[in-house]
Amino acid sequence: MKKEVLDKIEIKQGDITKLNVDAIVNAANRSLLGGGGVDGAIHRAAGPNLLEECKKLGGCNRGEAKITNGHNLKALYVIHTVGPVYSGKPEDSMLLSQCYINSLQYALEKNIKSIAFPAISCGVYGYPIEKACKIAIDTTCNFLNDKDSCLTNVIFILFSSKDFEVYRKYLKEVFGI
Ligand code: ADP
Repeated sequence: MKKEVLDKIEIKQGDITKLNVDAIVNAANRSLLGGGGVDGAIHRAAGPNLLEECKKLGGCNRGEAKITNGHNLKALYVIHTVGPVYSGKPEDSMLLSQCYINSLQYALEKNIKSIAFPAISCGVYGYPIEKACKIAIDTTCNFLNDKDSCLTNVIFILFSSKDFEVYRKYLKEVFGI
């Protein structure tokens, strides 16, 4: 692992809609027409034009991602990805990993420098935070290690202090940061 990869990773506790970054990632559902949790918060903060733009996208498959403007958000873009509903089967982790890869791929294509991820699938989709945290961080670090991109800052933003603690411990245990 290149040393500069870990310098790009940051964890925060709070509300993703408040972040001043180039792109925020939305843990959406397949319709892309809004929902509860982080999806609802993003649509409320971005305003109704986000929904109008999403209506033109024709939904999104699990593990895939689509990009829109940020509208009333500080973020320039919203990358909408649809995580797996946790079932305990091996394909869960593959799909969750694809959510991070496909979101980061958009970041690369749009020359995005800063991006923030919520804990995809860890709300109503029921993914255990300890398992999801490893997938989120390992997948992101491998992507940053393998691909040249403009990304200088990848933020994982956790809504609860409990989830934040899980991420903090994993980074400390595995990467010593
Ligand atoms: P999913 O359907 O993918 O499980 P949810 O929105 O239900 O998506 O939850 C995903 C994660 O987003 C959960 O850990 C939840 O605590 C978190 N979350 C909810 N609102 C926000 C917010 N405003 N900012 C950041 N994270 C949030």
